Amino acid sequence: MIKKFIRRILGRKEKLDNGTDPLILGPKEHGIDPQLVSPNAVRVTQTLQDAGFKAFLVGGAVRDLLLGIKPKDFDIATNATPEQVKRLFRRAFIIGRRFQIVHVMFGQDLLEVTTFRGASSEGAIKDEHGRVLRDNTFGEQHEDAIRRDFTINAMYYDPATQSVLDYHGGMADIRNKKLRVIGVPEARYREDPVRLLRVVRFAAKLDFTIDSATRAPISVMAPLINNVPAARVFDEMLKLLMSGHALACLHQLRKEGLHHGLLPLLDVVLEQPLGEKFVRLALASTDARIQQGKPVSPGFLFASLLWHQVVEKWNAYQAAGEYPIPALHLAADDVLSSQTEKLALQRKIASDMRDIWAMQPRFERRTGKSPYKLLENMRLRAGYDFLLLRCASGEIDSELGEWWTAFIDADATGREALIASKPKSGSTSGSAKKRSRGRGGRGRAKEPVVNEGGE
Ligand code: ATP
Ligand code: MG
Repeated sequence: MIKKFIRRILGRKEKLDNGTDPLILGPKEHGIDPQLVSPNAVRVTQTLQDAGFKAFLVGGAVRDLLLGIKPKDFDIATNATPEQVKRLFRRAFIIGRRFQIVHVMFGQDLLEVTTFRGASSEGAIKDEHGRVLRDNTFGEQHEDAIRRDFTINAMYYDPATQSVLDYHGGMADIRNKKLRVIGVPEARYREDPVRLLRVVRFAAKLDFTIDSATRAPISVMAPLINNVPAARVFDEMLKLLMSGHALACLHQLRKEGLHHGLLPLLDVVLEQPLGEKFVRLALASTDARIQQGKPVSPGFLFASLLWHQVVEKWNAYQAAGEYPIPALHLAADDVLSSQTEKLALQRKIASDMRDIWAMQPRFERRTGKSPYKLLENMRLRAGYDFLLLRCASGEIDSELGEWWTAFIDADATGREALIASKPKSGSTSGSAKKRSRGRGGRGRAKEPVVNEGGE
């Protein structure tokens, strides 16, 4: 009774701060366009609600809807247990060990349904640095909200009533373009250091400023990322690189002191003057493709990021007397093994990278049957796009890229003529010697595109 009275006189502000009662916003206040919500996501919330459960869209989807962006996927939160969810849908699968979630499928469309998580991580099993290892309790909706990382990621949207539930002032932060951790930032980073990388990704992707308390501990706590399993760091890095704002993300990582000595890949990418232009072109092209809704392949992306490290070693092996092709394979082995230790490059990605690299010297053989053989290669498109990047960055003579563009487009007679026409310069391998001739980047090879061979 007294509580109710106090709440009434303190009004909405108090409700907001206690984190238990949400601010409830109607369509006029939040302005979400229902057309941007996937019909399948509505089917899931509707089915759960019809069965008597609570069900909301949550997380990134709500954040994006509030920003007027069409979400790329929809997560749903409910008070139904995974078993109860599974029973309501024909194609539903319980997955996950650390925390069970349900994948509900409609055709190709996948929706992730999560049961509200319990509030406290205090009782959870942690490692010696305070990182939460296992925590499997279910809880109330307000407890689920407090467990989420940022205020803007902790809002719930009910498509049926078109209301948004805001537990931590996310709406105000969206309006002010502020990224703010829920709770005490130091403690939240300690529980899960991946959040350090998430701050950077969201700030760069959304063009939000990082709240000062959220930002202050980042560089000091950066070494905690070393303690996170490589596969998780890799997943987060992939999200970062495929966010459509990879370049901005990498700059922000450097600004926050998160790149140094943490992820060997980033050290390489951000601190090598040699390949800077190449990496910049590769990332700009990836960003453009993602922003146009086109697929990109992680193999191509990582092959680009690490190419100049490969080139350096390739040259060293050749200088030590190896033939070019075995030298390239040795260089690829070295680079892949030093990266996989820390980054857990998946085998499929690593083998795609190797294919793309291995194809490069083969583009230089423009006589006899060799070019025709290369045309049949399954990965030709990726290898060719990669070749164009090398031309555009000035690493090799753009004549080679132009020749291949013409060869791929030509008919049988055209191809014969191209083979018969003597290439201007013989070989154009990526060696330092060739580069120092200074022919870099004058030609007009087609703009490189990151290959579409989606995974
Ligand atoms: P994106 O647009 O990149 O998918 P997202 O916010 O949906 O962004 P996800 O990784 O898909 O990011 O996570 C979904 C939601 O789960 C987040 O919005 C957040 O509420 C919660 N979440 C994810 N990772 C964490 C984490 N490490 N700590 C706390 N909450 C998290
Ligand atoms: Mg998401």
